[in-house]
Amino acid sequence: MQRLGLNQGSYLGERIHASAFLNAFHQLAKAGRWTVESLLTGTGYSLCMAHRPARRQAGMNPRRLYLSSGIHGDEPAGPLALLDLLRSDLFPEDADLWIFPCLNPAGLEAGTRTNPTGIDLNRDYNHRQSAEVRAHLNYLENCPAFDLAIMLHEDWEAAGFYLYELNPDGHPSPASAIVEAVSHVCPIETATLIDGRPCDGSGVIRPATDPLARPDWPEAFWLLQNRCRQSLTLEAPSDFPLATRVAALSAAVLCALQKPNS
Ligand SMILES: [Zn+2]
Repeated sequence: MQRLGLNQGSYLGERIHASAFLNAFHQLAKAGRWTVESLLTGTGYSLCMAHRPARRQAGMNPRRLYLSSGIHGDEPAGPLALLDLLRSDLFPEDADLWIFPCLNPAGLEAGTRTNPTGIDLNRDYNHRQSAEVRAHLNYLENCPAFDLAIMLHEDWEAAGFYLYELNPDGHPSPASAIVEAVSHVCPIETATLIDGRPCDGSGVIRPATDPLARPDWPEAFWLLQNRCRQSLTLEAPSDFPLATRVAALSAAVLCALQKPNS
């Protein structure tokens, strides 16, 4: 599979309209068993949050799963993958689910990584300078802890799919199974240095994490410190066709959502 060769210095591929996306997500979720909330940001765009409780069975202790995308507005495949999974009704019925399909709606509309005031929201989870992150955290601070968090991203420079895993307590890891699943639909990044971080060529990066040593927290750091001890940040290569990247992220999410073996 060949790269498109469109991305020069930034993402220059296809874009989507945030309002149309959010309307479609909202309508699909409302038609199912989901509760949809609009979290006000004061910016003209609200954050969409969709929650669906597990179908309860006696003696069952459902997993609590968190998914988010669209925190970088120049990464359209993440929101589209979540929309596809919602439309196909592929989220597990036996888990409590919280989905934030677009954390930077104004950025998605403009096709920019940052929000309209130039803040990279995925560096703002410590200092909370943006209205979007404040609205997000205002909601999350009233949520229970999650068993797994999955964040969907894209990388304009990557030659293939890769992911970051934060898992300091050593829970069973779906990372290598995810890479195997994605390899059927999208190239895997085999570089040994990805975005400045060393990688063993497997497409899985397990960064040394000391949130206290890094002030500009991404979403995953706040979750690690406050709500979720295992997270996956999925990165699709955005110089490939949009349909390929959506398929890659959808395959990765479906694999990640499977119950761990132990
Ligand atoms: Zn991103």
